[in-house]
Amino acid sequence: MNKKGADFLTKKTLPSEVFIPEDWNEEQLMLKEMIHDFLKKEIHTLPEELDASKDLDYISGLLDKSAQLGLCGLAIEEKYGGTDLDFNTGLLFTEAMAPGFSFATTIGAHVSIGSLPIVYYGNDEQKKKYLPKIATAEYKAAYALTEPGAGSDANSGKTKATFSNDRKYYLLNGQKMWITNAGFAHIFIVFAKIEDDKDLSAFIVEKTFGGITLGDEEKKLGIKGSSTRQVFFNECPVPLENLLGKRQEGFKIALNILNSGRIKLAAGSIGGIKFALNKSITYSSERIQFDKSINKFSAIQHKIGEMVRLIFASESAIYRTGKNIDDKEKELENQNLPKNETKLKALREFAIECAILKVYSTEALSYGVDETLQIYGGMGYSTEAGVEMGYRDARITRIYEGTNEINRMLSFAELMKRAFKSKEINLQKAGRSIPKIVFKRSLPFQKLTTYKIIENFKMLFLILTSYTGKAFGMKLADEQEIVMDLADIMGEAYIAESVYLRIEKLKEKNVSQSEIELKESVLNLQLYVANQKIIQKANIIIDSLPNTKNRSLRFIVKRLTPQLAINPTETRRNIAKHMIENGEYTW
Ligand SMILES: Cc1cc2nc3c(=O)[nH]c(=O)nc-3n(C[C@H](O)[C@H](O)[C@H](O)COP(=O)(O)OP(=O)(O)OC[C@H]3O[C@@H](n4cnc5c(N)ncnc54)[C@H](O)[C@@H]3O)c2cc1C
Repeated sequence: MNKKGADFLTKKTLPSEVFIPEDWNEEQLMLKEMIHDFLKKEIHTLPEELDASKDLDYISGLLDKSAQLGLCGLAIEEKYGGTDLDFNTGLLFTEAMAPGFSFATTIGAHVSIGSLPIVYYGNDEQKKKYLPKIATAEYKAAYALTEPGAGSDANSGKTKATFSNDRKYYLLNGQKMWITNAGFAHIFIVFAKIEDDKDLSAFIVEKTFGGITLGDEEKKLGIKGSSTRQVFFNECPVPLENLLGKRQEGFKIALNILNSGRIKLAAGSIGGIKFALNKSITYSSERIQFDKSINKFSAIQHKIGEMVRLIFASESAIYRTGKNIDDKEKELENQNLPKNETKLKALREFAIECAILKVYSTEALSYGVDETLQIYGGMGYSTEAGVEMGYRDARITRIYEGTNEINRMLSFAELMKRAFKSKEINLQKAGRSIPKIVFKRSLPFQKLTTYKIIENFKMLFLILTSYTGKAFGMKLADEQEIVMDLADIMGEAYIAESVYLRIEKLKEKNVSQSEIELKESVLNLQLYVANQKIIQKANIIIDSLPNTKNRSLRFIVKRLTPQLAINPTETRRNIAKHMIENGEYTW
């Protein structure tokens, strides 16, 4: 079946159509294991946190060692020296790398934003010249989009490319900021405007071209072991053939690369929270207070259970989306589109899901590292235990690859674009059938099937979107708090559905009844929490509408989100106890 981005809002997905983490094959799990072994040996044995202002050689050497294991060419086609793994396995790679602390950012920038622009947009000459060296890490890569005056508003950058007198070169002038890997990068993907163009173009710039100077290492809150610097271009000569893609295509390139970066960051966040959870489980079993291990206290179990729920929910949706991207790529390949285009179009198709996942998973990570520090108590505040580093490192994930505010607004704006400009999604049709459906769905919550509960979430999102659209018209985009709440409701619906589909698919597999029951209890908890959040956000939206006579809307919210008959406290404790007994996150 052909899948389309955001069609989860209006269409039913069958469990057999989704990928679930229980589907990973032996080879994929071995890759994960191999990465964990590498990190244990090269990073977890280090006496201190890496610091880019002192350890630059060691950090860039880690990239060389990763390349020797084949880890720097996973997204690169075989003919250019890589292994060309599918997108979903690439996400697993990112998850596995997360316990490498700030090195996860270093290698992420190299294999993702620093090199994918060439993989996706390079011509054959450019690929031949650069990709084999990126795969062996002989060339280390960086991505230079942000400027002091152009962050979220990336297309407003001032870096300029003018033609040299002999018109053989572009001369780059300008300043980039916050550039990961800048301290040792050999090539930079630089975004700049040619002459007086309105939109950015992208260039492959070698450090040796000249006219490039670097600022000092930034002193940062976290990810201190990743190099972050300003990069200055002063009459830097870039050969004409190093224009990447077409002139003024740079902004599109930047956005498409960020789509992929967003879901990768989500996968990395899952790796981070799993690592934090496992540390929490170990520490809480060893730490004795009031003559008991602190993991016997239900306040601690709450935190552990909540982390498990967030991991389970995020990973269900992340790998479902990753596989959808792979499937879309294959579908487009069958239409004989060039390989570059199929990858890009497939990613573009799921831009809404990528933005949802970036927000959900990075905020899950924030919860996980914060509560891990809390479980460690005073020890968590000390550098000795290493968990304060995770707390600091995680904070950046809500800022880069587009801040979470920008991603929330982007997911909703993209949906509106597809619904009203390109008419790819028929939200209006879904909206027209609302009153009848709402009336029908007046059963108490506990009598609804799980799938109906999720359908109700989607329905409520569509109704609220329709009301707010009518209330604010084109000015809805200015009501950012409302847009962000709508984006969150849409996100909760997608995540809840992904968990549901995972359980349903699992029932068809050869797994024990006890495993199904426990995982089903995570689904129930997920629905309970999502329901509470959705009620709260829906009511805030209603109270913010200009028309105060919104009784019918309140009635609809009540109808679609009645109480769910589960005991969240007991459920969460049981989930936590299972992981505590096993000593780690076992799923
Ligand atoms: C450690 C680190 C590494 C990085 N690595 C790279 C890299 O390798 N390459 C690269 O190009 N960049 C990199 N960045 C830059 C990063 O992508 C930007 O910091 C990020 O996009 C946000 O831009 P900004 O910092 O200018 O914040 P701003 O855009 O100034 O945003 C500040 C605040 O305003 C909010 N805001 C902005 N616009 C709006 C709006 N329209 N509506 C509502 N709220 C808004 C934001 O959400 C945020 O809360 C890195 C940054 C850091 C800190």
